[in-house]
Amino acid sequence: MRIETDVKLDFKDVLIRPKRSTLNSRSAVDVSRTFRFLHTGSEWKGFPIIAANMDVTGTMAMARALGKDGALTALHKHYPEAELAKFFAGPDGAGAFYSLGTTAADLKKLAAVAKTTRIRLICLDVANGYAEKFLEVVKRVRDDHPESVVMAGNVVTGDMTEALILAGADIVKIGIGPGSVCTTRRVTGVGYPQLSAIIECADAAHGLKGQVCADGGCTVPGDVAKAFGAGADFVMLGGMLAGHDECDGDIRYEERDGEKVPVGMTFYGMSSETAMKKHSGGVAHYRAAEGKSVETPYRGPVEGTIGEIIGGVRSMMTYIGAAHLKEVSKRTTFVRVTAQTNDVFGG
Ligand code: 5GP
Repeated sequence: MRIETDVKLDFKDVLIRPKRSTLNSRSAVDVSRTFRFLHTGSEWKGFPIIAANMDVTGTMAMARALGKDGALTALHKHYPEAELAKFFAGPDGAGAFYSLGTTAADLKKLAAVAKTTRIRLICLDVANGYAEKFLEVVKRVRDDHPESVVMAGNVVTGDMTEALILAGADIVKIGIGPGSVCTTRRVTGVGYPQLSAIIECADAAHGLKGQVCADGGCTVPGDVAKAFGAGADFVMLGGMLAGHDECDGDIRYEERDGEKVPVGMTFYGMSSETAMKKHSGGVAHYRAAEGKSVETPYRGPVEGTIGEIIGGVRSMMTYIGAAHLKEVSKRTTFVRVTAQTNDVFGG
């Protein structure tokens, strides 16, 4: 047994220190980024936010809506093959990741869809990116889909970030345990404070000319700003995008003054009992649920929330004098505001 005593930080442990700046207006900043991906050489330009590949948020309607702001969506992996083929062949396909796990059935379905149409972005997603088999699957997907950008995860350390990039990932997805409906830290005791994970993994990835996507733990636009400050190239959001019209799930209504008003929607983790019942007929006897189900307030069209996120990031950029999103991490100084990481359970 070993104990690491270095301080590791979460979003709530820091604030971004303002800096002198010549930028006078929020409209003078550019929140888009252009990336050239390591293995494919292809380019992408946009606002680097990705809707999480969860049942509720990873929907085709979300991809259409976020596409208008140049943001991306990782579709959940439960859409039927024919529907995916049609979607990726259409105009919105360029703004969406095809998501899959590592089973033979997942790989077969990807091959079948990719046979009919071009898939530009692939999200290879497992809860634990440390399994040796995961690296083999990343290599295989890279070999089978040389023209697709591959995002793979999740991991939280620099060594594994490098291993995934060398195996063929263009983007490594970072986060174990920070998600709003994730209970991994409670159930297993495993995790890593998300801000430190982003800082350490971004450093490792950038050294190899790869990118990272910070996944989980953002609850307000300021957390998204901090993730970019820490070096995240992309930020993936679940809970912040739940509760909108573009989400999958029923809206709950309440009677107020004789009128039916929308008040809430369900949001659940992909390892929750709700998800496992829906997709696999229940929780298998050898595992425990590592996610929960919550009700989020109904928030109307996602356009408003994305506007708030873009607004928050823009304003942060004027506070620190970054004219382009790319400059944000270089111009970020975090001030530590807590003595220790208290609420280690995140969501
Ligand atoms: P959020 O933005 O809601 O804080 O985090 C979203 C992320 O939580 C997802 O992209 C995914 O990585 C993670 N996640 C989703 N469902 C579950 C779950 O049931 N268990 C765990 N451990 N993580 C989850």
